[in-house]
Amino acid sequence: MFKLCYPLGQEAGRSIHHSAVNLEQIERAVAASSGSGVAAGLIQAEGDGGAALPSVSLEQLLYSETAVREGIANAPPPEVLPNLRRLARGLDRVVDLLGHPLEISSGYRCELLNRRVGGTPESQHVLGSAADFTCEPFGPPADVAAAIARSPIRFDQCILEFGRWVHLSFAARPRRRTLSIYSPGVYVEGLRGPDGRALA
Ligand SMILES: [Zn+2]
Repeated sequence: MFKLCYPLGQEAGRSIHHSAVNLEQIERAVAASSGSGVAAGLIQAEGDGGAALPSVSLEQLLYSETAVREGIANAPPPEVLPNLRRLARGLDRVVDLLGHPLEISSGYRCELLNRRVGGTPESQHVLGSAADFTCEPFGPPADVAAAIARSPIRFDQCILEFGRWVHLSFAARPRRRTLSIYSPGVYVEGLRGPDGRALA
């Protein structure tokens, strides 16, 4: 049941918080895309400029250091775009909650990228429903996860991963489930420290 992102190593995050490509542009990309034309839709959306909204950007959700290094396009198929839109909207609420931008290390992963970073085929990242991030100005990942868990944000799963970053997903039927992982493949219920002590 706990087949999630299963990272073998966190990609280095890239701290960007501009609004060159924002939620509105994802909407326009969805509207502009038809069938295989999604890539063109995304490019068109990127060229539009867009309003200067302080939102989590599509660029942030598609960026991957591994993808860049290995020349992987990491382009989302049309069916993933609504999930990315929901993810961006959810992450915007997290930004509002924490009062600081997020450093997103991994958002959407195409299947090839997901294999490269050691994700399971069932990873919510492949669906465009999950992101891994930190928010150092707010505090350590455990504090970030605890703040999200205490908030009314309707997340699906909030997972404290190795104490080093937060995996957060959004879904049509959010479960507000909290989990922690310190050993690869071993998820425990709740937000916990490495000693099993409950954090929130
Ligand atoms: Zn993840």
